[in-house]
Amino acid sequence: MNQPVKQHLIDPEICIRCYTCEMTCPIGAIEHDDNNVVVNFDVCNFCMDCIPVCPTGSIDEWRIVDTPYTLEQQFEMDELPEQADIEAAPPSGDENAADPIAALLAEAHKGAGGKAKAPVTASKATVNMYNLGKPAKMKVQGNYRLTDDPDHDVRHIILDPGALPFPVLEGQSVGIIPPGTDTEGKAHLPRLYSISSPRDGERPGYHNISLTVKREQHGMASNYLCDLETGAEVNVTGPFGATFLMPGASDAHLLLICTGTGSAPMRAFTMQRQRSGATGGMTMFFGARTPKSLPYFGPLKKVPASLMTQHLVFSREEGKSREYVQDRIVAEHDAVAELLADSRTHIYICGLRGMEEGVEKALTSIAESMGQQWTSLRDSMRDEGRYHVETY
Ligand code: NAP
Repeated sequence: MNQPVKQHLIDPEICIRCYTCEMTCPIGAIEHDDNNVVVNFDVCNFCMDCIPVCPTGSIDEWRIVDTPYTLEQQFEMDELPEQADIEAAPPSGDENAADPIAALLAEAHKGAGGKAKAPVTASKATVNMYNLGKPAKMKVQGNYRLTDDPDHDVRHIILDPGALPFPVLEGQSVGIIPPGTDTEGKAHLPRLYSISSPRDGERPGYHNISLTVKREQHGMASNYLCDLETGAEVNVTGPFGATFLMPGASDAHLLLICTGTGSAPMRAFTMQRQRSGATGGMTMFFGARTPKSLPYFGPLKKVPASLMTQHLVFSREEGKSREYVQDRIVAEHDAVAELLADSRTHIYICGLRGMEEGVEKALTSIAESMGQQWTSLRDSMRDEGRYHVETY
């Protein structure tokens, strides 16, 4: 009988196939096939470099096994196997020694990241219907510029799956496979984008989805997408993501914190809430360089204050000092404290990875002023499916 071992796995239901872990792993222990991203047990040395970079926490899965799951078995998984009833072997034969992997993991978790859970009242998401080997072919229905700033081209791109089933929930993402091959002659990996339309389409009853894409100066995929003409065909994977979802409870309050194109899922949430007539309200902190570079600036201005309190903050507005979302959160101390104290509040953070630290600091200072420790409040909110981060 084999000595039981700890195996690192990736949750295929929660993984959004952004491949960040694979690109981060310094020793090539993470790989993918058309279907899943997996960890090679024979190569992984538990360095934990992949843990903090994962936007969803799907990377943080461990099983004690007698025989490690092979790559082939992991490629076939639709969901993670249950932990079998196996006693973990004490490391190096010393029964009192601490688990070294747990200690490394705790160190890797010092940041905001962690294993996300879906809100208890969220609808069940469908994931991974279309993969690299079998992408959904969608037609471009529209490609509209969202920003007036000539140096900041952000697009609203509408895709039509035609007769193909493509069920989505707000907060989910899709992969777009750019045509052609990379410098090694391999097909490009899909680039991940949040869906910015609600579950029943851009207009109620329409079977389509929209994406929010910023043109990056040398970005191969973003330029491909931003230049797409109506009628063009696009290869789409997904949908992905089963945790960054909105609560179904009508009285839940959504605290939305985003930068730039991280506003994509927030648009979907806002539209769904408008359509569903939910009563709990929303508070948004949205950061952009200037009003002219803030995606959806015009439509946002039309969202009534009764539905959403908006804080649009600008970092490069002429004649004004720089303001980031975290600065405004601190300035709105009392309102945010009230939300943190309310068990109906759900927090969503989406956008630049760099914003995470500042937002955490702002929430720490507000929680402390309430006599609470932010990290324990945050962790219990996350456990209750009320704290969601998607930054990359
Ligand atoms: P951006 O225009 O570069 O920045 C938006 C705003 O955030 C600017 O005002 C910027 O200020 C500010 N900012 C910069 N550093 C910050 C920090 N440390 N804390 C708080 N605010 C900060 O944003 P973007 O290029 O649209 O980037 C959006 C990010 O969202 C990307 O990383 C993207 O991968 C991610 N995302 C996109 C999607 C999608 O569907 N497209 C979905 C999820 C996440 P300054 O530039 O003036 O410093």
